[in-house]
Amino acid sequence: MAAESRADAVQADRDYILQTYLKPDFVIERGEGVYLFDTEGRRYLDYVSGIAVNALGYGDPEVTRTIAEQAAKLIHVSNLYHTAPAGDLARRLVESSPAFDRVFFGNSGTEVVEGALKFARRYARDRFGEGKTAIVAFDGSFHGRTMGAVAITAREKYREPFMPVMPGARFARYNDVASLEAAMGDDVCAVILEPVQGEGGLMVADPAFLRAARELCDRHGALLIFDEIQCGMGRTGTLWAHEPSGVRADLMTVAKPLAGGLPIGAVLLSQAVADTIHVGDHGTTFGGNPLATAVGDAVLRRVSDPAFLAHVREVSSYLDESLQDLAADLSGTIIELRGRGLMRGLRLASPAAVAREAAQRRGLLVATAGDDVVRLLPPLIIEPRHVDEAVAVLRQALK
Ligand SMILES: *Cc1c(COP(=O)(O)O)cnc(C)c1O
Repeated sequence: MAAESRADAVQADRDYILQTYLKPDFVIERGEGVYLFDTEGRRYLDYVSGIAVNALGYGDPEVTRTIAEQAAKLIHVSNLYHTAPAGDLARRLVESSPAFDRVFFGNSGTEVVEGALKFARRYARDRFGEGKTAIVAFDGSFHGRTMGAVAITAREKYREPFMPVMPGARFARYNDVASLEAAMGDDVCAVILEPVQGEGGLMVADPAFLRAARELCDRHGALLIFDEIQCGMGRTGTLWAHEPSGVRADLMTVAKPLAGGLPIGAVLLSQAVADTIHVGDHGTTFGGNPLATAVGDAVLRRVSDPAFLAHVREVSSYLDESLQDLAADLSGTIIELRGRGLMRGLRLASPAAVAREAAQRRGLLVATAGDDVVRLLPPLIIEPRHVDEAVAVLRQALK
């Protein structure tokens, strides 16, 4: 029975869903805490979290209750009307980060990256006139799949088949001030970067690089955009990954973990940028709906609690020590450890996809980043015993 329903689900995917993803041939049925279960009752320790989405794991009682209560009251009315949850979440976002004064809600990462690009273009035109439209992004970047976001995403494979994408994008080398300086000019309206790169291989921005980016933006009248869609919301041990650098951006994008698994995105803006955006300049049907924002408010309240962030830092340092030991024992296999907090990369001497499958067979789900990096993105609620369990599986899988 279970095997039949598994075969059916896999077959339906292969017959009817556009095949843009390669999936393993088990079918996930439910989750509990930091574990997922397939239709045949096999258990997986989840170090993917739905790609950095499920920060509170699975079946969190508050998330579940908030969804049920809000759904019974009101799911959607559009942005033509006021609802309370959107304002509550916007207030909490603004109060969580001193650089920002306003929020625009969307439904996904790529949608809010588009929003940030449009706001930057609008600001530049308002303040400096036409022609200041170039966007500087970085090698290793990932900002999404729509025509603007993909134009500033480094991997050519994602961009080339769809040319022409948004014009005006150029790339500099990450963590390389001279390269950024060479890419800058008075035609640049924005510089966009991930304080910790996700898809690009878990590179961490140097604080000095972020400071230099801020200075170069100021010198050229450009806006600085932090894309914290993957690295934000506590994943690196502070609420926002850029926080330890002390650098303030003009815009920030947030999405993946914000609403406990419901689709959501947000652009945070400084008042100076917000002042150039007017009624009718941008919009969205679903963005900021009461269901997603009610859950978002509950998730952000939980994740921004200092005790929660202290837990993330403690379990992160235990993960870090455990990975250092593992890398020392498997020094020919693991070439480099990358990332920060609960966003870690293991650069391997062999294909990451092979390691991912070997871990999966042993009951551990991990992601990859590029061809040679295994990416670990556990729920932020993991405990040291879940670190021990994951590292033991990795030790077997990488042998
Ligand atoms: C996932 C991601 C995006 C795109 O988000 P989607 O919801 O998939 O559109 C953009 N930027 C970063 C850093 C991401 O990790």
